[in-house]
Amino acid sequence: MNRYEILNQVYTNKVKTVIQENYRIKTIEIDHRMDCLPGQFLMVWIPGSGERPMSIGNADPLTISVANVGKVSGEIVNLVEGDRISYRGPFGNPFTIPKNAKKILCIGGGYGVVPMYFLARKAKEAGVNAIAVIGAKSENDIVWEKQLFVVCERVHITTDDGSKGKKGTVMIEVNELVEDVDAVYACGPEKMMAAVAKLCREKKKFCEVSIERIMKCGVGICGSCAINGKLCCMDGPVFTGEEALAMEEFGK
Ligand SMILES: Cc1cc2nc3c(=O)[nH]c(=O)nc-3n(C[C@H](O)[C@H](O)[C@H](O)COP(=O)(O)OP(=O)(O)OC[C@H]3O[C@@H](n4cnc5c(N)ncnc54)[C@H](O)[C@@H]3O)c2cc1C
Repeated sequence: MNRYEILNQVYTNKVKTVIQENYRIKTIEIDHRMDCLPGQFLMVWIPGSGERPMSIGNADPLTISVANVGKVSGEIVNLVEGDRISYRGPFGNPFTIPKNAKKILCIGGGYGVVPMYFLARKAKEAGVNAIAVIGAKSENDIVWEKQLFVVCERVHITTDDGSKGKKGTVMIEVNELVEDVDAVYACGPEKMMAAVAKLCREKKKFCEVSIERIMKCGVGICGSCAINGKLCCMDGPVFTGEEALAMEEFGK
């Protein structure tokens, strides 16, 4: 499907399962198997309220995880099993795994672990081992840990307050793990991704990060997700570490 077809294609399907992950995040499984890749996103539409981009966590069933932070996300997390949910997609460029890669490092902060799970799962299917690092403010903010254990060789956890795993940022673990992997991926707060991208530059490791910007159309029409001459929806949301570091706004 080209971007004009995708713009016009709105799916409406049933909410199959709703999982309360923590005090503010819910995972929603949709009765739909979508042809999509890790790093891509949906534009989820709540009629009368708006559309918001949400990372895809799984293709079958199509899965998203939503943090209740405002108007539209607050309505999405109120959906219950059997309700209908509307969305367009998949949008954006996916993560890429280099052909020679045998081991990859997947780093997720907050709901950034959602696309990291999808990536680790696809890697495993392709015979590539994945190690995950989950970063969160505290134990209560950790999501998708159990899912990552299923598809990863190892899962490391860091929390800002030390309530689970090592106390501090993901970099405590990443600094140690980076030497043993062929490619590094990160999704989460930009300061975290900038630190990862800088380390990968220093260690000459393949690196990709997923950048979030406010998006309205998802197909490069509105320009609201522009970042230093690139459009997050069309050129991203996945960028190489070098592309991201070249963007003045990145990590600020
Ligand atoms: C490519 C991409 C993928 C995304 N994937 C996910 C995902 O998997 N899960 C998910 O929950 N969200 C995701 N988002 C963010 C999501 O699209 C919305 O920005 C978010 O849900 C807020 O929308 P809202 O209408 O609820 O809040 P708004 O009413 O627009 O904003 C309310 C308040 O929340 C703040 N806010 C906005 N976005 C965030 C945020 N992301 N975190 C914390 N505070 C915020 C605003 O600054 C404002 O103060 C993604 C965004 C992009 C660009």
